[in-house]
Amino acid sequence: MAKPKVAIYWNASCGGCEEAWVDLNEDILAVADAVDIVLWPVALDFKKSHVEALDDGEIAVSFLNGGVRTSEQEEWSHLLRRKSGLIIAFGACAHLGGIPGLANFYTKDDIFEAAYGYLPTVENKEGTTPQLTTKMPEGELELPEIYDTVYPLDQIIDVDYYIPGCTVPADLIMEAVTAVLKGELPPKGSVLAPSKSLCDECDRNDSKPDKMEITELKRPHLTFMDPEKCFLAEGVICMGPATRAGCGQRCINANMPCRGCFGPTDDVKDHGAKFLSALASIIEINDPEEMDRLVESIPDPSGLSYMYSLASSLLARKRFERETVKA
Ligand code: SF4
Ligand code: SF4
Repeated sequence: MAKPKVAIYWNASCGGCEEAWVDLNEDILAVADAVDIVLWPVALDFKKSHVEALDDGEIAVSFLNGGVRTSEQEEWSHLLRRKSGLIIAFGACAHLGGIPGLANFYTKDDIFEAAYGYLPTVENKEGTTPQLTTKMPEGELELPEIYDTVYPLDQIIDVDYYIPGCTVPADLIMEAVTAVLKGELPPKGSVLAPSKSLCDECDRNDSKPDKMEITELKRPHLTFMDPEKCFLAEGVICMGPATRAGCGQRCINANMPCRGCFGPTDDVKDHGAKFLSALASIIEINDPEEMDRLVESIPDPSGLSYMYSLASSLLARKRFERETVKA
């Protein structure tokens, strides 16, 4: 019997999600044995023409990591949607926009100005920035268009499932692959991880006092952090109350607070707003000036609350005018 065809593709991401597959260690051999990988740019030399030559729906499942911020990524996403039975948004950037989605606090011009302009390591006296077309003696060269906005994958194409995380833990990959192979998937649209909060499975949860009250916020690198105690109860911002469980407490076990890469639980629309609501509920300050002082002690409140989820939040970006995304 023919093995199910699988594609692995990357959009606006850092490459960590590619390493997540390698983190399967010897299990990757079992995966490679069970499926027929027809696209994986980081590891195998398949071309776009190979994918185009497949029948529509012929790929059983495509795992796409990264958000979408260029015309090329948009084109590939539509191509793989057409060729695939299932699309799985793989990792925080495809799921929520991720860290690259923080660029939505700026415009493309702001980013070009920094990346090709004033940053201290840039040497660019002519002020050259990427152009869509460039005339050369050999002919006209083309580059993909960079959009003003980073989009989570489901704002560009229909997505069947999501695997959260920055990056995705190996056990969640194996569970997803097994569920696909056995045809034992939950309802379409599900996030393939538990829908309870990280606090619910955190080993430090029992250290919380009956009533949490904080009057100041401490920064992790300026504070001694007791490895037994709840960060939040100690005044160190931890996004555990608003964040989905399933990562294996990776940061907590390294004595670092959660920054929310698994995104919100099923019942929450806006991860950052949920976290701010949880934080506000434990702050025990009544004096407005004291409250201002506390808020000012957070260097980048919006970047912190929406570190992984700005692009998928109700805010989505700093300005609301968006370029048209072609259907
Ligand atoms: S706030 Fe953070 S440290 Fe405290 S219980 Fe929740 S996840 Fe654990
Ligand atoms: S503790 Fe939070 S930020 Fe760290 S891996 Fe888990 S969900 Fe992601």
